[in-house]
Amino acid sequence: MIPALVIHTNLLLSNWMGGRAFGPLVLIRPSQRDRTALLEHELEHVRQWWWLATPAIVLAGLLAALPVLAPWRGWLVALAGFGLVLQAPLYLLLRPYRMWSEVMAYRVTLRHASPAASQRQLAQAAASLAQHYWLRISESTACELLSGAPRSWWQYWRVPRS
Ligand SMILES: [Zn+2]
Repeated sequence: MIPALVIHTNLLLSNWMGGRAFGPLVLIRPSQRDRTALLEHELEHVRQWWWLATPAIVLAGLLAALPVLAPWRGWLVALAGFGLVLQAPLYLLLRPYRMWSEVMAYRVTLRHASPAASQRQLAQAAASLAQHYWLRISESTACELLSGAPRSWWQYWRVPRS
C-alpha cells in the first residue's frame, strides 16, 4: 500500500480528467470515485513520486544525523525539499519522463480492464495518451508503447514525434 491522501473533488481537474496526482495527493472526481482503474492510475503516479522523493529525504536525514554537518542543516532541509518537488519539473519539462510516467500509469489502468473490454480500453488509453499530454505521438505509437514490452524511462528519448 503506497502512502497517499485521496480527496474526492472536481477542483483543479480539467474537463477531460477523472483525476490527477500532485505528489502524494490524489484528486478524484466524486462521479468517478468507484473507478478502481482510475484510482490505481493515480496511485502509480504517487509511487513514481515516492521513488524520486525518498532517496533525497533519506540522504538528508542520514547526513543531518552527523554532528560535523550541523552548520549545514539548512542545506540538508533544502536537499529534502528538492526531493519533494523534483517530480514536477521532470514531468513538465522532460517529454521522455512524462511519456514514461503516463505509459506506466495507463498500463496499470489497462490491467483492470475486463478481457471483453481490453481492446476498446487500449484504444481509449492510446487516444488519451496521444491527445492530452503534449507528447506529440500518434495513437498507433501510443498503442505500441502501452501494449509492447515495457521500456525504461531513458528509452523514451528515442520515441519519434509525429
Ligand atoms: Zn496519468
